[in-house]
Amino acid sequence: SAASEKYEYQAEVSRLMDLIVNSLYSNKEVFLRELISNASDALDKLRFLSVTQPELLKDAAVDFDIRIQADKDNGIITITDTGIGMTRQELVDCLGTIAQSGTAKFLKALKDSKDSGSDSNLIGQFGVGFYSAFLVSEKVEVSTKSPKSDKQYVWEGEANSSSYSIREETDPEKLIPRGTRLTLYLKNDEKGFAHPERIQKLVKNYSQFVSFPIYTWQEKGHTKEVEVDEDPAEAKKDGEETGEKKKKTKKVIEKYWDWDLTNETQPIWLRNPKEVSTEEYNEFYRNTFNEYLDPLASSHFTTEGEVEFRSILYVPAVTPMGKDDIANPKTKNIRLYVKRVFISDDFDGELFPRYLSFVKGVVDSNDLPLNVSREILQESRIVRIMKKRLVRKAFDMILGISLSENREDYEKFWENYGKYLKLGCIEDRENHKRIAPLLRFFSSQSEDVMISLDEYVDNMKQDQKHIYYVAADSVTSARNAPFLEKLLEKDLEVLFLVDPIDEVAIQNLKSFKEKDFVDISKEDLDIGEKDEEKEKVLKQEFGQTCEWIKKRLGDKVASVQISNRLSSSPCVLVSGKFGWSANMERLMKAQTV
Ligand code: ADP
Ligand code: MG
Repeated sequence: SAASEKYEYQAEVSRLMDLIVNSLYSNKEVFLRELISNASDALDKLRFLSVTQPELLKDAAVDFDIRIQADKDNGIITITDTGIGMTRQELVDCLGTIAQSGTAKFLKALKDSKDSGSDSNLIGQFGVGFYSAFLVSEKVEVSTKSPKSDKQYVWEGEANSSSYSIREETDPEKLIPRGTRLTLYLKNDEKGFAHPERIQKLVKNYSQFVSFPIYTWQEKGHTKEVEVDEDPAEAKKDGEETGEKKKKTKKVIEKYWDWDLTNETQPIWLRNPKEVSTEEYNEFYRNTFNEYLDPLASSHFTTEGEVEFRSILYVPAVTPMGKDDIANPKTKNIRLYVKRVFISDDFDGELFPRYLSFVKGVVDSNDLPLNVSREILQESRIVRIMKKRLVRKAFDMILGISLSENREDYEKFWENYGKYLKLGCIEDRENHKRIAPLLRFFSSQSEDVMISLDEYVDNMKQDQKHIYYVAADSVTSARNAPFLEKLLEKDLEVLFLVDPIDEVAIQNLKSFKEKDFVDISKEDLDIGEKDEEKEKVLKQEFGQTCEWIKKRLGDKVASVQISNRLSSSPCVLVSGKFGWSANMERLMKAQTV
């Protein structure tokens, strides 16, 4: 047989492997995802190259697929793809050195973190690629045939070794037409991975939407009718003693092994939205997010051009119990895929502002690297653009609910997520125009049904310039606010801000459709009825009274003034123009206690 040649790993590779093998790597099962994604990459590369070089396919007319076989008796897993394969030189370059930017980045980050001493954490953040095979394997064989070479080569490496070997494949039994076969000889403790059902589950979990078919070798059974001799005792009972043995058919389950298509090769988000039914979107939602209730709304879209990605977003029907902590959402609501390979559901915060953390969905990008980490996402210009588009689409989806003929839909939404949108008024200035139409408030003319700002504006008087509001702790106390009298008399509608966050949200918005929000409890309230003559007379008549009251109250009030704002109450306490409103003051006090 052909001689095997021994090679030393590049120093960095040794270090990396050491680290992988010896670290407390809590999530070993990712090895399968990494190796499947390499197989999928290899198929992608071949598919891409064969467009211009069809001769690459001519020697091997085999399908583009990935096949995984688990031998539980011997603790061996094989992963075979029909992709681009590797030449001998490529084996050295790809599996003996660190040429790959992702892994190189990982090592750099590792070096930077040496001082902080948190290596094992880092491994979890980066895709460690091929070497993750050594998380579970004692020995790895890579047998590979590139269409650029007429020979097949075997790369062989062991955990805890600084060298690997390459030899030519000579065993005719082991020749493959094209692509790569990985054989993992599992460590004693990890042999449990070599169970067909476990492999099937991992594939469904992590690589469900890889765009090439993934087959796993599974035991199956079908029922079959077989002829059996009838039990003589049985025949006697029937009273038919013919002396002859009777034949009878019986159903038995026949077991056999076969390839089982384990993934869904066409992810729902790659399909044309026009061809996907609401029921399909809902089913995908329920399966993916383990939900029982259908979502309130969904939105499926593709963006092209500068940044390419596809996404399906959902608004869940209810907020999950106990997860109502807007300040610290740990939601796992957004599943990020890169080129259809599931990357993580831990990056919600990088893709959505926290006030939209209730939105669930999948995002599949073609422009991000597979080993994308939080750090990469945070720095990426691509992600900034994605985030902007995602937020916009989320607003369109919510607006869709608000425009639904069924007013109850939006009432349900508002009950669940109103607080989140108000937080958005405070945290996302850029999207005020999108958030404002979605807000809802009670008002002096609508105490039972909440109205939108658009409805308020439609109901404004001809010469009314402002949107009036009063903050209180309930509709009842808002209704009894003394400041209200004059406005009610003039039939001006006043919004009742009864949720503690309302006032801050409104103050952040400042205006809606060029109409300023005006707090009717502030001292400079002008509702357009200045009568200077009358004011002069009143000032003469009551000026001294005011001075006397101010003297008596001293520092308890800033000033005592004559006002035209009341119709039946004799006096009212108002907030200074630049001061806090009484409601805010109440809130601030509550917070400092
Ligand atoms: P990455 O996938 O980020 O490039 P990996 O460590 O996963 O890094 O893989 C290193 C390289 O080895 C790949 O870039 C590829 O060139 C090669 N490789 C790995 N697996 C395969 C495979 N199944 N078929 C062909 N080439 C492969
Ligand atoms: Mg890889």
